[in-house]
Amino acid sequence: MSDIDLALRERFGLPAFHPWQREAIDELLEGRRKVLVIAPTGGGKSLCYQLPAAVLDGTSIVISPLIALMEDQVRALTERGIAATYLASTLDAEERQRREREIFEGRYQLVYVAPERLESPWLVERLAKLQPPLLAIDEAHCISQWGHDFRPSYLRLGEVIERLRPARLIACTATATPIVRREIQARLSLGSEQSAVILRGFSRPNLHLAVVESDSSTERRKLMLSALRSALGEPVSPLGGAIVYAATRRNTEKLADVLGKEGWRVAPYHAGLAASVREGVNRRFADRSLDVVVATNAFGMGIDRADLRTVIHAQAPGSVEAYYQEVGRAGRDGQPAHGLLLTSSGDLGLRRRLIGFSGGRDPGGSPDPEHVQQQWRLFLDLMRYVEAGSCRHDFILRYFGDEQETLGGCGHCDVCERLEERGEEGTARGASEEEALAVRKALAGVARNQGRAGLTAVSEMLHGTDNERLRRLGLTELTTHGLLKGHPKAWVLALLRRLITAGLVDLTTSEFPIPYLTALGVATMKDEEPVRVLVPAPDAGRARSAKKERTRPARELPENVDSSLFESLRSTRLDIARAKGVPAYVICHDRTLLEIAAYKPTSIEALADIFGMGPARIENYGEPFLDTVNAHAP
Ligand code: ADP
Ligand code: ZN
Repeated sequence: MSDIDLALRERFGLPAFHPWQREAIDELLEGRRKVLVIAPTGGGKSLCYQLPAAVLDGTSIVISPLIALMEDQVRALTERGIAATYLASTLDAEERQRREREIFEGRYQLVYVAPERLESPWLVERLAKLQPPLLAIDEAHCISQWGHDFRPSYLRLGEVIERLRPARLIACTATATPIVRREIQARLSLGSEQSAVILRGFSRPNLHLAVVESDSSTERRKLMLSALRSALGEPVSPLGGAIVYAATRRNTEKLADVLGKEGWRVAPYHAGLAASVREGVNRRFADRSLDVVVATNAFGMGIDRADLRTVIHAQAPGSVEAYYQEVGRAGRDGQPAHGLLLTSSGDLGLRRRLIGFSGGRDPGGSPDPEHVQQQWRLFLDLMRYVEAGSCRHDFILRYFGDEQETLGGCGHCDVCERLEERGEEGTARGASEEEALAVRKALAGVARNQGRAGLTAVSEMLHGTDNERLRRLGLTELTTHGLLKGHPKAWVLALLRRLITAGLVDLTTSEFPIPYLTALGVATMKDEEPVRVLVPAPDAGRARSAKKERTRPARELPENVDSSLFESLRSTRLDIARAKGVPAYVICHDRTLLEIAAYKPTSIEALADIFGMGPARIENYGEPFLDTVNAHAP
């Protein structure tokens, strides 16, 4: 057993790493020595610096903005026999001096420092003399002016790193939006060339995701009520809890009223309520005397119920990230749970007002136009999620950059289910042949465009428009001109947008964005990959109405999924995929792994009963998966 595994067991009392933790620690100790870790809150990021600090010689430094958290961690480390302390402005002068003296004598393996303390050049200089083997920056998103937690003192950390010259650097955050990530990388010199970026753990396989757009408020209300019942059962004997999120305070009260009349034990929650009322709601929800809370985004931080069976959004939230965080509160116990996002065309105008009113204001200042723009772009990303014609889970993972966990179809979100219905019986999920052909034609059009024109012109070319501009661009001469002439222009454009959200087409980041095919787009065009995109409805571009088919009950995932076995199976799949140089979903779908993790087959025969395990897959990958199951047996 390696030193690291030994330290994990003996000093941290944990049986095994999450595979990505191991990866981060290996990179930090023996690899590139600079690591950015992005994983959800509670995912286990702190181990990635605590364990290396415990095995490295010398004093490692951790920068963290949360004093309560520092205190907790220092206490826990001390109990495990790892010498740790912290410096923060809450300590009185005498205590601080005592601690500093001990630190400078090199008595600690880990020192937590609040970022404000590092504004003292004297302290930085003394710490530099310790030649720290490791510097960890926790909550690294605080460096981002676009983030929700911006801390001015974090802006100086670039300078602090230069002066401390740590032998290793790790930054951790749960905020995965691309813009924040890029800012962290730029400010901490953690570009993806010289450092490892480990982004993992955002996948939530037990969560069924669905979206319904409807401009009828009666229908949205009905959907909310039926979703609650299908997730919780009868109001008199609910099977767990639920949160309904609304965008405004007034709406939380209105909806709570509606739900109360239906017999649910429900309360509204928003920042306009007295602190004592809010505390009461938190407490009653925690002790299960409330089953449903209808809340604005002010609710959530302190929720500590693992048995939330559904999170319903009665209106669209502000961003993909906000949505992921809020919906992610469902199913923390690993049991099946549902996320339903209800939205109407009115949500666009509402969000625009909300952003102009509050979101764009710096504390006490006036609306900052750049910030308003930024928030609006984040909301438009969410609208892309709503309209996405590809797997919801994959969309979110791609949005966060968690490419390694994307699957080309989870098999159990509303989009995957509809694709499955359309595809031929018994084949890999996909679009119908006619739809698949339209997608391949559109991809061919993008390929033929070869950098000439933007998305709108490409859609016009495919539609067969003939005008001066297209002729000047040479688009009317292409063999793909008019390839989709049976479809309205707006439909072709909507299709191209879907190809973007599905990861088949990307746009250059130049001033005039030009569409081009991604590797997956090329493979799909060549028919090497099935088409996993829902084409837009024939009336795309006109007012959208609710699609009834989306509301049919979902097929359930197997119960009793062993989540740690599932994680091992995923890493086995990733190994196979890497060895073969193909994306993970080509090896097999998530659903297959979930079934293996539930039924634990130990023979080839038993494996053949698993969803998606045909003879070819068994022949090619049966053994490594069986080995993983066997190695996992308790
Ligand atoms: P984060 O910093 O990502 O929010 P923490 O580091 O605080 O999360 O970890 C959350 C919890 O997960 C802690 O209780 C920790 O002990 C536990 N944990 C971390 N790594 C593992 C592991 N490999 N196996 C089991 N539990 C773990
Ligand atoms: Zn899916």
